[in-house]
Amino acid sequence: MTMQQALAQVRREFDEGVFAQTLARRVAVRSVSGPNADEAVLQSYYTDILEPELAQLGFTCRRIENPAPGGSPFLLAERIESPDALTVLTYGHGDVVPGYDDQWDAGLGPWEMVLRDDAWYGRGVADNKGQHGVNLSALRAVLNARGGKLGYNVKALFELGEERSSPGLRAVCAEQREALSADLFLASDGPRVSAAQPTLFLGSRGGVVFELSCRLREGALHSGNWGGIMKNPAVILANAIGTLVDGRGRVQVKGLLPEGIPASVREALGALQVDSERLGRKIDMDWGEPGLSPAERLLGWNTIEVLTLAAGNPAKPVNAIPPEASAYLQLRFVVGTDWQNVETLVRQHLDAAGYPEVMVRVVRGSPATRLDPAHPWVRWAKDAIAAVTGEAPAVNPNLGGTVPNDAFSDILGLPTVWVPHSYPGCKQHAANEHLPRSIVRQGLDMMVSVFWHLGEPEAQAVAKAARR
Ligand SMILES: [Zn+2]
Repeated sequence: MTMQQALAQVRREFDEGVFAQTLARRVAVRSVSGPNADEAVLQSYYTDILEPELAQLGFTCRRIENPAPGGSPFLLAERIESPDALTVLTYGHGDVVPGYDDQWDAGLGPWEMVLRDDAWYGRGVADNKGQHGVNLSALRAVLNARGGKLGYNVKALFELGEERSSPGLRAVCAEQREALSADLFLASDGPRVSAAQPTLFLGSRGGVVFELSCRLREGALHSGNWGGIMKNPAVILANAIGTLVDGRGRVQVKGLLPEGIPASVREALGALQVDSERLGRKIDMDWGEPGLSPAERLLGWNTIEVLTLAAGNPAKPVNAIPPEASAYLQLRFVVGTDWQNVETLVRQHLDAAGYPEVMVRVVRGSPATRLDPAHPWVRWAKDAIAAVTGEAPAVNPNLGGTVPNDAFSDILGLPTVWVPHSYPGCKQHAANEHLPRSIVRQGLDMMVSVFWHLGEPEAQAVAKAARR
């Protein structure tokens, strides 16, 4: 009964094509969520793929109705060995974004997985089918190597609405708090820092989308007859935006920034390889908050992006002062930002800056989360991964983008550790989504070690200490 046996099993299955076959079956289910989603196809990902697989691993599955109107049901699978044992909660999503079938390179497509240049191509290989697939394969191997007994409990929550912002997920977590109780949340989604660097991330930045608009009158005015004596809403709006974020991408509103970067976060960010070479795209060094490293600017700080900008008719400019102008902006933010007061903060700022004509309206927002990189579970996970890769993984305090981590960290109150099995160039959400085999091969090793070490005394000790 050794970890080597489990490693041997996942490597053999990988080499013999078993993993690829299973992944191809997952990809073939066209489980697109969103408007016009086919609910029967979506749920067939549970019926045909996940439930049989989980049952084989000894899980008891039940579906939980989605409290959000129109939301797909959740799948809760439990594998309880002892009520007193350590319990880990994991998560995955079976839905994908649309296929964009006609945009893939020749010979590739969303629903039939293809191996090319040592990567698997298909919708969902990276987001999220390949990722929870890695975890289930590793769990199965560990279960076999341990003679059918893990030494801990596993709960797994799946949803079919992640790609449309997880409707009902937070409500279900609140409703099922007891059923979802655990010592640790551990799941896989999102990218590694770079393809070559095994990574843990501990939360995600939050985001608030807000609209700025300036509507001054009905109808356009001739710019020759009225220019100079009538206000131009587009000029006012452009300048108002410039007071929020300057021409170098620096956020100008103190209230929309964190107070600083905590020492443990700064230390973790210092070890991340966020550079032009690793990201495959030249970073703008003269953009964003001065004095911060690229990793700190990307992951440790806040940004304001202009998402859209509209006035007049850009397709057919005429000599007129447009009657109105509007823009959608997004604040991406880290823990410690007063994000629930964005509307008030921006309003006050614009009033003080002399732009009372510009209206502010928050459209949507989601919180930022971040487990302290110095947390004992983070140290434990780093050790478990280093035990098989030979070096500690990068620790990204929070993903730059968004996963619904607040449901687990804030509502369930769990320490959250994510082990991503993808990379920034994977083209998730676009044509040519792919997953390099090297990441899967290493991910299987890493997850075998993680699931193996959860059954060792060190994990019990960490859980006991954290419960106190
Ligand atoms: Zn996604």
